[in-house]
Amino acid sequence: MKKRMLGNTGLEVTELCFGALPFGPLQKNLPLEEATAVLCAALEGGINFIDTAQIYKTYAPIREALQQTKKRPVIASKSPASTYEGMQEAIEEALNELNLDEIGIFHLHAARVGEDVFTERQGALECLYDNKARGRIKAVGISTHSVKVTALAATIEGIDVVFPLINQTGHGILDGSREEMEKAISRCVAAGKGVYLMKALAGGLLVDDYAQAVEYARSIPGCASIALGMVSKAEVEYNLDYFRGRKPATLPSLAVNKKQFIVVESLCAGCLECVEACPNHAIVDKAGKGFIQQEACLTCGYCVGACPQFAIRLV
Ligand code: SF4
Ligand code: SF4
Repeated sequence: MKKRMLGNTGLEVTELCFGALPFGPLQKNLPLEEATAVLCAALEGGINFIDTAQIYKTYAPIREALQQTKKRPVIASKSPASTYEGMQEAIEEALNELNLDEIGIFHLHAARVGEDVFTERQGALECLYDNKARGRIKAVGISTHSVKVTALAATIEGIDVVFPLINQTGHGILDGSREEMEKAISRCVAAGKGVYLMKALAGGLLVDDYAQAVEYARSIPGCASIALGMVSKAEVEYNLDYFRGRKPATLPSLAVNKKQFIVVESLCAGCLECVEACPNHAIVDKAGKGFIQQEACLTCGYCVGACPQFAIRLV
């Protein structure tokens, strides 16, 4: 599989990054052994880049997979901490739970936060800079859904890596259009930032247009890698085949046959836009949050794109 340098970080990553959210407790919630086996298959298959986060709670299967495979992939994690102390705790937690002395990338986890993130989280940012100076992390980054934050990140010297949201249909992009996000990304690339992409499949919405959606993400100049979530060995194989240039047969039957949409309660902001978006009246207001009645759901996926919080997931 192709590898690319991640900006000026000195880190070389595979074009396919293992997104470690969907196999964890926020989504598929695979048992530890099964999650570890999925990740081992990805690492043995050549993927050398894992994206996780403090809130994903997936450090344990990553640690186990590193131990079993003896591989040393580039790992990116992130924390929503805003203070110096909070970020230090997040870094210590990651290093302890991953059983590592150093982690590749640590981001400000700032999915929906505005441009003031760099001032409001100055303490957390200083902590990341200090840990980089001490050799605890190799690169400092920010993960964001916002065009404005992506553009601003290009101007901030200490930011080494930017992890923005973009996809073919522009689902989930904040503060601007897909074209504006493309421009913001090109500014980051021109400034020497390492850029890798999230939500290329729009949280599962574009899975039926997999090739088109992935090719769109691949076509964005200067982007080193694309993070895709994988919850089974079949999905790992499918993605590996595609990124190695072999034509995969079909989408993994397991994922297609057993899919179920749920609202991740902890992510739901209670806007109830999904209730309106569901053409089958399968979503109801339950204690101020969206709730999918499985018996009425036809798994069309329309609600996924309607949710501004990406709180509706295919599991
Ligand atoms: S659209 Fe998303 S955030 Fe809004 S109520 Fe539905 S699940 Fe919750
Ligand atoms: S997947 Fe389709 S039918 Fe099911 S809750 Fe979402 S919009 Fe409604």
